[in-house]
Amino acid sequence: MTSPQLDIASAQAIVLEHCRALPTEEVPVDEALGLTLAEQIVAAADVPSMANSAMDGFAAEAGESGRELKVIGESRAGHPSDVRVGPGEAMRISTGAAMPAGANAVAPIEVVEDAGDSVTLLEALVDGQNVRSAGEDLKAGSEVLEDGRELGPAELGIAVAAGRAELSVIRRPLVAVIATGDELREPGAELAPGELHDSNLTTLQAMARTAGAEVVLARQVGDDPQLTRESFDEALQLADVVVCSGGVSVGPHDHVKGALSELGVEQHFWRVALRPGRPTWFGSREERLVFGLPGNPVSVMVTFLLFVAPALRALQRRAPQQGLAATLGEPIKRHPDRDECVRVRLVEGEAFATGPQGSHILSSMALADALAVVPRGDGDLAAGSAIELLSLQP
Ligand code: AMP
Ligand code: MG
Repeated sequence: MTSPQLDIASAQAIVLEHCRALPTEEVPVDEALGLTLAEQIVAAADVPSMANSAMDGFAAEAGESGRELKVIGESRAGHPSDVRVGPGEAMRISTGAAMPAGANAVAPIEVVEDAGDSVTLLEALVDGQNVRSAGEDLKAGSEVLEDGRELGPAELGIAVAAGRAELSVIRRPLVAVIATGDELREPGAELAPGELHDSNLTTLQAMARTAGAEVVLARQVGDDPQLTRESFDEALQLADVVVCSGGVSVGPHDHVKGALSELGVEQHFWRVALRPGRPTWFGSREERLVFGLPGNPVSVMVTFLLFVAPALRALQRRAPQQGLAATLGEPIKRHPDRDECVRVRLVEGEAFATGPQGSHILSSMALADALAVVPRGDGDLAAGSAIELLSLQP
């Protein structure tokens, strides 16, 4: 079978040519974890909004050690005092509570002798000591987060501190996953001869979600042309990205390509010079992307990481993942005409194969820290060679 095979980078470039960032929407900040910010966030006011104490202690005027000060009241977090602190006076104050007028320093509780209605300072106090000034974290009007930022816990927290309850974000990509094959059974089902548990549907959903997508359809479909077409038809109505496993090779029971062609999905490539994952298929219909991944479970993961994950990043306006580098810890035999993604564990920057590398051996994937991309060639790639790594995190 001599159909042209693309190299990995060319196939990735074709995928990215067909990716357009998804539209934006407003979401409550508590629903924005992992999404891409689609606006610039500016602080609505100074944070903190007022000068406040960094310690539990006594607010007073700066001055020498040994002073005995009359305690005239208390400023607690959320309960400021409007009493002014005069010379010879102090106010009990808690961490985060507003500094009272007249005081410019805080003596921590540990360095005073507390007699209840008076305190004696055991150390000198300098102007500003243990005081957080207004706007020390964020100045009103300053940029807090730039457009395009990926929203993690710190970003969400600072957006709230900056005064926001809702954020404009790139909508989550909607993904449909379809596992094809007459041999597939539900997780946990009793297997008849020739059957197997459908692990791909679970793996694909997990990868899609890890990449920030929402799974809107997960369907198992037998090797039947009509049912295959119906499932893809439904998937194309619901999802931005349709990902299927199996049925993209050339066997008499492989119906994916035929079904997609009937549904008007245009093929952009089929077959990549890659191991595992050669029969990978990619096409689109208008803005909808369709990935036909090979059926073997390791091929599914490798081709998802190489082709689907970059597409999901681009749809969410995220930068491509940075390539990582390592050194081969042992020689690895090269494939003569396909680049190979080898499951490796990493020991102090050196990569070692995790075990048998067949595309059906999921156990060696579960042991891996990363995939090492071993370029095609003759003979072994020697121990000590520099190697590019692909993260297992989509
Ligand atoms: P195919 O690409 O459809 O020829 O599938 C190749 C092989 O991958 C099959 O013979 C199965 O052993 C395996 N396979 C296909 N689909 C799944 C699945 N959903 N879960 C686990 N293994 C699968
Ligand atoms: Mg099949």
